[in-house]
Amino acid sequence: MTSYLAATSLEEAVAALADGARPIAGGTDLVVGARQGKKPLPEALVGIHRIPGLNGIRDSDDGLEIGAMTSHAAVVAHPTVRNRYSGLADASALVGSHATRAQGTIGGNLMNASPAMDTGAPLLCFDSAVTLASARGTRNLSLADLWTGPGHTSAGRDELLVAVHVPAPPPSTGSAYVRLQYRRQMEIAVVGAAAVVTLSEGTVTAAAIAITALAPVIHRVAEAEARLIGGKANAAAIASAADAAAEASRPIDDVRASANYRKAMAAVVARRAIETAISRAGGAEVEIPASESTYGS
Ligand SMILES: Cc1cc2nc3c(=O)[nH]c(=O)nc-3n(C[C@H](O)[C@H](O)[C@H](O)COP(=O)(O)OP(=O)(O)OC[C@H]3O[C@@H](n4cnc5c(N)ncnc54)[C@H](O)[C@@H]3O)c2cc1C
Repeated sequence: MTSYLAATSLEEAVAALADGARPIAGGTDLVVGARQGKKPLPEALVGIHRIPGLNGIRDSDDGLEIGAMTSHAAVVAHPTVRNRYSGLADASALVGSHATRAQGTIGGNLMNASPAMDTGAPLLCFDSAVTLASARGTRNLSLADLWTGPGHTSAGRDELLVAVHVPAPPPSTGSAYVRLQYRRQMEIAVVGAAAVVTLSEGTVTAAAIAITALAPVIHRVAEAEARLIGGKANAAAIASAADAAAEASRPIDDVRASANYRKAMAAVVARRAIETAISRAGGAEVEIPASESTYGS
């Protein structure tokens, strides 16, 4: 029998975590997984939805602070996210169905640590960090240091993710997240790629590229980034960077795709993500999610 406490303050929540409870946000991974028999519910759960200040997006010149309880639907609806952090909007727009996006949270997505999660790759490309709170205090951690393997993070069991910090990108930056999916809703990424690209007079001055569902943890691909930075944003450079992203993948065979197919598709989705990021950096309007507008190209 699972015990349940709906915490009304951060102090109450972290005290419960220190006593061994697990946090529950939207429950779309935890409860749905338990119902499907993937993993039983923990013995003690602490609900974090009633804690003031955990829900919402604060937008400043320095960047975004996204509360852990912010739903995917709220992320997609936010005008600044759509305009300036479009790759994150692309990703949140693809999570599950309307119901999953209304209920599922950004904190739950990151802490579930699935290599196929959608928000991870764009947030990584934006150099995001998270704030973790416990009864011992709070600390900031680069997102790149959060995931340690499928379903595992470097956060302590007594730590609660309270916010995600996304630094403001420089002017003339565009971003995109594109995933390969077999259907449009209720599907997790077979392969995904995010790109954040900054341009100056047609030359790439900064680039970040990350791949999803292609390795035990989502990670950036320095070789792919190097093939873009300093050069013109042309088709040859984009194809070369996309090939490097595919080369860096370590996909597995499973029921949804073979490793060879995933690797071949990695080059395709990486190319589409980079092309879309470059278009957006140049001021083009590309609909959200970008995956839907890049189908068939
Ligand atoms: C039908 C369906 C379709 C889905 N499709 C997608 C998809 O397309 N893309 C995708 O990325 N995901 C998908 N998911 C997975 C899931 O919806 C997302 O990962 C969602 O963001 C999880 O958020 P949640 O708030 O529901 O997490 P919960 O289920 O509440 O928690 C998930 C895990 O994170 C921990 N946790 C939650 N919040 C915190 C916190 N603040 N600090 C520390 N630990 C925390 C919990 O203890 C638990 O281990 C899907 C799920 C379902 C059921």
